[in-house]
Amino acid sequence: MRKIEGEFLLKADEEGRKKIKARLREKHGEIKETTVARSILSRPIEGYFIGEGKKYIAVFAAHHALESVTTNIAFLLADMLLEKSKGGNINGVDCKLMLSKYCFLIVPCVNPDGVELRLHGASDSLLRERQMRMSGGDFSSWQANARGVDLNHNYDYGFLEYKRLEREKGIAAGPSLYSGEYPESEPETRGTANLIRTLSPAAVVSLHTQGEEIYYQPRDRKTARRAERLASLCGYLVDTPEGTAAYGGLCDYTGSVGIPSFTLELGKGTNPLPEGDVPAIFARVGEALAVLPTLL
Ligand SMILES: [Zn+2]
Repeated sequence: MRKIEGEFLLKADEEGRKKIKARLREKHGEIKETTVARSILSRPIEGYFIGEGKKYIAVFAAHHALESVTTNIAFLLADMLLEKSKGGNINGVDCKLMLSKYCFLIVPCVNPDGVELRLHGASDSLLRERQMRMSGGDFSSWQANARGVDLNHNYDYGFLEYKRLEREKGIAAGPSLYSGEYPESEPETRGTANLIRTLSPAAVVSLHTQGEEIYYQPRDRKTARRAERLASLCGYLVDTPEGTAAYGGLCDYTGSVGIPSFTLELGKGTNPLPEGDVPAIFARVGEALAVLPTLL
């Protein structure tokens, strides 16, 4: 197993992400970056570009606040690609050559407010009272953003159908599952979707936990084959989301506009998975994600 430095195993809250990023810069110098959006509470959602190519592979982590170990995995992927961009192989693939044709956009944390809320409770924001009401003061299972919208149900796919499901199940703004007032109502999802519309990536990857499974969109044979190849590299299974999981997700939306899209449910256990699981998870999926262009 690849030796993983301590920084990459830090809890990926705001402070942890700063330290991981500082380590990345120390190792690899300046990294080309963009601010995808600012969260409701004005935290920057950062994205890193790795590669010189014109075809993008867009990787998003931590839509869900309980799944912040996906941020660690995203940073490790960035670290591996930055290291190999100078020359070297991953899984028999010449990385320098691959990165002359492709460019990875890696967004380690789409939901910075939610992660902060889950790990540190309500801050002194204008939303504090509402957050306390929505959570009953317990944020240990908080998945949503700062105002109780589940970002991975806020994209423009099956929104009205999902609203019916929400009414049936009595889902409202709160820790998880609430889709928001309208598609892309949240700055986090609007920024992500806008960037995707600008870059038209060749593939989209969304990292979640847990289950060691891969979902794919669009549901056609070509994408199914790609998902199977990706899954076999990871030792994961390809599966189909059901019930509430089948609406409003990033990959539902990007798949619906024809972009090969893969949702990876990383690791196995009960969310939140501990940071101690990160090395084993990365050992399974790191190289597979790094050579994703060769599966397209
Ligand atoms: Zn998730």
